[in-house]
Amino acid sequence: MNKKLQEIANAIFPEINLTMNDLENKYPKRDLPENAIVTRFAPSPTGFLHTGSLFTSLVSYRFAKQTNGVFFLRLEDTDQKREIKGSGDKVIEQLKTFGIVPDESYMDENTPYGPLVQSKRKEIYHAVIKSMIATGDAYPCFCTHDDLAATRKHQEKNKLLPGYYGKFATCRHLNPNDVLERIQNGDDFVIRFKSNGKDDQRVSFTDAIRGDIEFPENILDIVIMKSDKLPTYHFAHVVDDHFMRTTHITRGEEWMSSAPIHLEMFDRLNWQRPIYAHFPVIMKLDDGKRRKLSKRKDEEASVDYFLEKGYPIEGFLEYLMTLANSNFEEWRIQNPESNIYDFELSFNKMSLDGALFDIEKIKSISKDRLSIMDATSFTDKALTYAKKYEPRLQELIELDRDYFEAIINIGRNQKKPRKDHEKYSDVFSFVSFMYDKYFYEMIQVLPFSDRFDSQLIKDILDEYMKDTGLKLDQNEWFNKLKNKAVERKFAARPKDYKKNPDEFIGHVGDYAEIIRIASCGKPDTPNFYDILQILGEERVIERIKYTKNLL
Ligand code: GLU
Repeated sequence: MNKKLQEIANAIFPEINLTMNDLENKYPKRDLPENAIVTRFAPSPTGFLHTGSLFTSLVSYRFAKQTNGVFFLRLEDTDQKREIKGSGDKVIEQLKTFGIVPDESYMDENTPYGPLVQSKRKEIYHAVIKSMIATGDAYPCFCTHDDLAATRKHQEKNKLLPGYYGKFATCRHLNPNDVLERIQNGDDFVIRFKSNGKDDQRVSFTDAIRGDIEFPENILDIVIMKSDKLPTYHFAHVVDDHFMRTTHITRGEEWMSSAPIHLEMFDRLNWQRPIYAHFPVIMKLDDGKRRKLSKRKDEEASVDYFLEKGYPIEGFLEYLMTLANSNFEEWRIQNPESNIYDFELSFNKMSLDGALFDIEKIKSISKDRLSIMDATSFTDKALTYAKKYEPRLQELIELDRDYFEAIINIGRNQKKPRKDHEKYSDVFSFVSFMYDKYFYEMIQVLPFSDRFDSQLIKDILDEYMKDTGLKLDQNEWFNKLKNKAVERKFAARPKDYKKNPDEFIGHVGDYAEIIRIASCGKPDTPNFYDILQILGEERVIERIKYTKNLL
């Protein structure tokens, strides 16, 4: 070992006694089954949870669970200018909402491979850098912004590859004595990795999703520690994922072109390369063209959007599974009742050219999921939603839970259940007419068809109030209603009316609609008989009487 380099390393990090060996011993290889996947989600706390990040974390989480491995959450907070306080905690909460609970998280004090917050790992980064300086794999760089700008200008002018490398990497060639003196003088510096890459050589690796990949070698002496003594992403990724014993780096494809930098560092440190899996970016069709789902332009790029609208969690997760693996949907058709996590994800079934985000599909999956949920679970979940986002719905549910559940139960437990709801924010306007507070408000605007004069409407309502038939079963009740309609010259079947419209006033549906409007305030409701039963005869008559007086 070069003594001068060791002196420089000591001068830069006098307080660091931790060695690479200490670190290897402190963070040994994890004791897991042979094929267990250790992976992670590593958000930077810069704001909301992106839909694409939820996708990446769900898939990473599933890979770890499927193989009895470990999924952990690391907070990458080294860019303190961009940090938004509290956004890391919010991410944890949102992941939890989707059932994604990391085995180890940056919130836990005593994780065996922690701390999992980068700003608390300075000592580890510094120990590795100290060792790299001593071995000549890293060096301090004193170049100022102006120096770097001048180099860039020269490179641009001469059409050369921009960046800090080769003869442009001036601090790489400084005399060690001068370096030591400048450090002792307190000059500002950053630390750079000393690349051995050649521009005519290539580096290859096997991406778990994309197969064999080849790139030109990295030749840049990239910054690994900034002047604030915090590491850059490139370096922190390598150090953290080595000492956290990550087996699979699951990250967005925007990182793929930096892989040569990371691979070179793993190789130079004599550390085993992890497996990379670069996930497809989530795309959106915009005016027929594919583009990235964008934080700025698309509200659906934020997971919050779906939570606020109340899309059912299970529907959203199911949708993400369809995005993840092309054979999921086929499996789903064969296993409609199974837990989605009985499906085994595979890396090689992931799409390569960007997964297309399809809101219509989310809607349709959500409708399906909500329709097959039992009324009790539906009510529980609607209430959880309402408590957070819709107080007036919360009020209705809490007023009388059984009553609410009875409404939600209409048309539910049958072969083809009704698909009334796409999301929990649809529920309030769906049920409100069942509550007097809202019914009497709604009925102030009468939605009767102007094909029938008000005297006829009044007569029909009177006739119904006299004998509602609500003690009868549904068939008998309907037959009775139909007979009354026929007596008043309404056709018994819509198609009879359509054939001979001049012979009738309307058809039985029109007749029932008059009673429906008077008792529900609107012409469209789920099964009318069930609605009337839930309201109860007394309230039905009260409502109809009130409506009649408005005519
Ligand atoms: N903090 C990085 C990001 O948010 C993580 C990339 C990675 O997973 O390695 O993009």
